[in-house]
Amino acid sequence: YFIISGQHFIVPLSRMTTQFPSLSPAQKKELSDIAQRIVAPGKGILAADESTGTMGKRLEKINVENNEENRRTFRDLLFSAVDANCIGGIIFFHETLYQKSDKGVPFPKLVKDKGIVVGIKVDKGTAGLNGTDGETTTQGLDGLSERCAQYKKDGCDFAKWRCVLKISDACPSALAIAENANVLARYASICQQNGLVPIVEPEILPDGTHDLLRTQYVTEKVLAATYKALNDHHVYLEGTLLKPNMVTAGHSCPKKFTPQEVAMATVTALRRTVPAAVPGITFLSGGQSEEEATQNLNAMNQTALHRPWKLSFSYGRALQASALAAWQGKASNKKAAQDAFTSRAKSNGLAAKGEYTSTAGADKASTQSLHTANYVY
Ligand code: 13P
Repeated sequence: YFIISGQHFIVPLSRMTTQFPSLSPAQKKELSDIAQRIVAPGKGILAADESTGTMGKRLEKINVENNEENRRTFRDLLFSAVDANCIGGIIFFHETLYQKSDKGVPFPKLVKDKGIVVGIKVDKGTAGLNGTDGETTTQGLDGLSERCAQYKKDGCDFAKWRCVLKISDACPSALAIAENANVLARYASICQQNGLVPIVEPEILPDGTHDLLRTQYVTEKVLAATYKALNDHHVYLEGTLLKPNMVTAGHSCPKKFTPQEVAMATVTALRRTVPAAVPGITFLSGGQSEEEATQNLNAMNQTALHRPWKLSFSYGRALQASALAAWQGKASNKKAAQDAFTSRAKSNGLAAKGEYTSTAGADKASTQSLHTANYVY
């Protein structure tokens, strides 16, 4: 019943928005079980889904050629050392899903046999939104349902799709917010139909001089729009995970903020916008140093604010940087690289429970900024 210009209207119930069934109770249970397993207490995600080009930039830093065998060798090193007590899921890139370990075991089997959930990056990268200040949307919806069905058969139980927003005086624009929210929701809905838990990733880049409050404001706007779109697309929230940026000041902001300030701003923004039905929020590291990313997550899990969801990690750079630096492409460094990786994973597992105490002499590699301007993944 509503009134326009003094006239009274009655809308029949049948004309109101109605949900038609989209997922069976069994499908919902499967999705929610998968999501819960990934963010079980003290567990997070290893994002190892760098595209071939991004992997090339990583390998270039240690003077290792970017070929299929070297990419396989590095990932073999990670996957054969990974500890299921602190890693609940690993995100693969397409190529890796069909590669084998040194011992001839397909990577998805190696990981699954440890009790870790296999995920896959399904987006196809960003594309410009014409008429904006260099803003983007993310591509990959065409044929997505068929690809998801195949990935499910090939052992995957969750997926990732990354959208990117940026902060400047004019950004993010209303168009970028709406378009990215909608494409994330459409992707999430397609994943769920195919039995994959969608990780919804609206990343706000840290580039800029803006302060903490501005990032918090923008994060709230972006997340509120994202959850409105997920609701519009009838996405089953219990069977999703959110992968947001932490609320940090712009990378070039002259003022520095403590982990406690970052934690308060982040948890406040999330409490205002992310429904309690979402089982877990797994942050990206976004160019923070390994140590910063761990300390910020730990501080979030220590805030006095009530948190209805798990707060954990889905780090790429902040889980692999020390390992890459230790490896240098040499077989003789394999053990040292694995130790560096498992030590970061363990620290983040503790931070996911608010139980991390930073080691006074954190090594050099772990405190180095991993920031790259306008990062592509
Ligand atoms: P970083 O942790 O390196 O930011 O990457 C995580 C990721 O998967 C971004 O899509």
